[in-house]
Amino acid sequence: MQDLRKIPQIEKILKNKIFDNTNKNILKNVIKNKINKVKNKIINGDKYNIENLESEILNEYKSITSNTLKPIINATGVVLQTNLGRSIFHKNLLNEVIPLLSHYNNLEYDIENGSRGDRYNHLTKMLQAIFDVEDALIVNNNAAAVLLILNTFAKDHEVIISRGELVEIGGNFRIPEVMKSAGAKLIEVGTTNKTHLSDYKNAINEKSKIIMKVHKSNFEILGFSSEVDIQDITNLCHENNLIDYYDLGSGYINGIDCNEPSLLDICKNPPSLISFSGDKLFGSIQAGIILGKKDLINQLKQNHLLRALRVDKISILMLQATLHRYITNNLSEIPTIDMLNKDTCILYQKAVSICDRIDIFLNPQVIEVDSLAGGGSLPNKTFKSFGISLQMKDIKASKLEKILRENLIISRIYNNKVTLDVRTIQDDEVEILINTLSNINNKRNNDE
Ligand SMILES: *Cc1c(COP(=O)(O)O)cnc(C)c1O
Repeated sequence: MQDLRKIPQIEKILKNKIFDNTNKNILKNVIKNKINKVKNKIINGDKYNIENLESEILNEYKSITSNTLKPIINATGVVLQTNLGRSIFHKNLLNEVIPLLSHYNNLEYDIENGSRGDRYNHLTKMLQAIFDVEDALIVNNNAAAVLLILNTFAKDHEVIISRGELVEIGGNFRIPEVMKSAGAKLIEVGTTNKTHLSDYKNAINEKSKIIMKVHKSNFEILGFSSEVDIQDITNLCHENNLIDYYDLGSGYINGIDCNEPSLLDICKNPPSLISFSGDKLFGSIQAGIILGKKDLINQLKQNHLLRALRVDKISILMLQATLHRYITNNLSEIPTIDMLNKDTCILYQKAVSICDRIDIFLNPQVIEVDSLAGGGSLPNKTFKSFGISLQMKDIKASKLEKILRENLIISRIYNNKVTLDVRTIQDDEVEILINTLSNINNKRNNDE
């Protein structure tokens, strides 16, 4: 066994110059853990090279204290990916909010009266004006909106919902479980593929409070299927004094060429309550946006849960900046919408110009691909796009995909080839992309 006394004292290690620019409290813990590991190793009879101790400690310290959130080049063509942070922002919006974040503001302050104001009022007028609805409320995300609405109106009561809409959105968000957390009783009606208005009608009793419609978001039932239109649910609810609530998931305002009704369409005859995410097709920050009847929104504001679901000032500012783009029809500054709207000719030119600059060893070729909206929205809609396929001799597509991924470029594999869909590659990422690709080649040559 090696001599344990050869391991230096903590105090001595701390004095080493290589640790000059470190946080000494954190470093001490790293050293302690490392020394324990090394002792165990030696006691177990393994060999350990004490010379490496300090550099290994420094590496460990660096890995603990470095930022884990990194910028990624999304070359998948999937515009909204929860794993990649969903919607991104145009720099102009960020510049606009900087002065408001580096100074105090009137988040909850009524400047006119010098009294307490309401953080929930900041966006109300704009949302009322855009959607022509009575009132609005913003919470932390759409999951919070669903929870708040069900808890406020249906605690110890019944919520009627179609079996075909008992969806799991991902990230463990399942409608039946949320219903339980809210204290509401779920009444499933219809079958997986078909639900009729009469199914809802027959389930109504004195305990019923809400008929909820949930956007299926991430899948579609094709073939022998039918669901009830929100308008018919709204009418049925009005006849029976129930609340009609539509969880839209990924609402969009306008500017997307698809078969789904926009928020503006739905709000022509709005349900009593709608909610949707701020960072899906709406193209802004994580938030749950609730629109609906004034008396219902007021009741939501009285629920103590709201305090726990409270939206932050950064979110309010980003939503405000996004709403301004919708008001002025400046959709090119909402990247989510802008990417989905990109003209195929422009995408083709972009693919060609990137392809021309990629080293020949990657065998780059422009190909036609299908982009997706993603993020649980427009499940079967594809957007024609162009990409660059890459192939390296003697390297499998899955291996090349991994190499790119480790270099923070996320690609997709089409027809057995790694492919970069240009739709989701930002203009200021092109240089980085091309440099990274040529570095991969240089590194490979050096390795050989
Ligand atoms: C995405 C989604 C949610 C959850 O919204 P978050 O903003 O991610 O919390 C809820 N309902 C539906 C139908 C969705 O698509």
